[in-house]
Amino acid sequence: MSERKSKDGTVNNSPADSSQDDSAGLPAVLSANHSANHSANHSVNLSAGFPDALPAALPVYFRYNKKNAYSYSALVPALPGATFSKKPENGIMIYSFFTNQKEDIFEEICQARADRLNSFFIAGGPHPSGAAAKTLEYFDAVVIGEGEETLPKMVSRILENERKGIDRKTGFEEIAGIAFKNNVGGIVITPPGPAVELDKFPCFSPNSIWRPLEISRGCPHRCKFCQTPQMFGYKMRHRSVSEIVKYAAYYDDLRFLSSNAFAYGGNGVTQKPEKVKDLLSSLSNLGGKRIFFGTFPSEVRPEFATEDMIDLVVKYCANDSLSIGAQSGSDTVLNEIGRGHSAEDVYNAAEVCLGAGITPIVDFIIGFPSETITDQEKTLEMIDWLCRNGGKVHAHYLTPLPSTPYEHSVPAKVHPDISKKLGKLALGGQLTGVWENIKQRTVENKDG
Ligand code: SF4
Repeated sequence: MSERKSKDGTVNNSPADSSQDDSAGLPAVLSANHSANHSANHSVNLSAGFPDALPAALPVYFRYNKKNAYSYSALVPALPGATFSKKPENGIMIYSFFTNQKEDIFEEICQARADRLNSFFIAGGPHPSGAAAKTLEYFDAVVIGEGEETLPKMVSRILENERKGIDRKTGFEEIAGIAFKNNVGGIVITPPGPAVELDKFPCFSPNSIWRPLEISRGCPHRCKFCQTPQMFGYKMRHRSVSEIVKYAAYYDDLRFLSSNAFAYGGNGVTQKPEKVKDLLSSLSNLGGKRIFFGTFPSEVRPEFATEDMIDLVVKYCANDSLSIGAQSGSDTVLNEIGRGHSAEDVYNAAEVCLGAGITPIVDFIIGFPSETITDQEKTLEMIDWLCRNGGKVHAHYLTPLPSTPYEHSVPAKVHPDISKKLGKLALGGQLTGVWENIKQRTVENKDG
């Protein structure tokens, strides 16, 4: 999920990030940092289905930031004339950002406007999609949700309007899935367009930023903390095996993007082990690849971590761990947040993994608004069990994200005894993350 951007909006480190360091040059060409098979057949037709190179009425830039590189990698092929910039420029500036980046970005836009740059600012990605109205206080337009179809249409329209010398937003109301301010300051949000067909768009541009192979998009579940269904819809879509194999040729190590890797080929509720098998065996047939399936930046839902699935991992994959989203050890909390699985499912998944010699790396969120000390104790109990039995845990504090039911909620405080015990487990090296509200701790330390 890279900066490690998990579905709840928290940021972690990325073992899989093959994008460039922000301090290094901009991503125009392949970098030696890529774990890539440079002898791969680079014959993917990137321009298929896309507009011709953009005319130069206004230059078009992606505002590059290492943390957002993956968001751009799917969009670069759709805008072949665009380049990257590390600062606002005169022209069309495209930003993608997460909630925890918004203050810096908004400040940058304000400064650019104060400097009187001749720029048209477009925002997209998780935060702007969930908070379009607020984002329009700074930006000229917002792409809501998927950008592959919408962004080229918006950019083409701006360039056409620029050539005609008319208002850059003329005709925006005809573009599906966007938000913008009209000439009298009213906010216009157009109806969403159809979901993107993944096979119609490359996973990434081999000439620019690479990213893990996106095998699926969307999620049928409704976890209250998560933006994924709002961004990508409740229907799971999948890239075909043949397309995935085509892009797999570029890598030696294969990692994947999905809301639930074990749901590949299905509706996200029921497993299709034969589809997962077809995918993994096809990738395995490429030869010379190490397949990491169900690990960061993907994770799997616990009820999908069955013996059938783990057997496929053992047979075809190189990973000796599996990333599992548990989120809480309390059934009360799991019901309240709409997870659609039980605490028992998490224990079962961990046992299946451990029995097969796979280390379960289990994700938890602490601080759900209704969470009580009893709930936190149940979570601690599960974390403790996992650590004692050979599992690993990543815990983090809830960030209420825009467009989610928790957007305006106040996270529960982490009880000091729970925090202390988690701290002790962290000292043992099996628990990582930031599981408490740093502000809370600072205030308590001052008070105490
Ligand atoms: S299962 Fe829940 S947390 Fe995971 S992507 Fe779907 S809604 Fe988000």
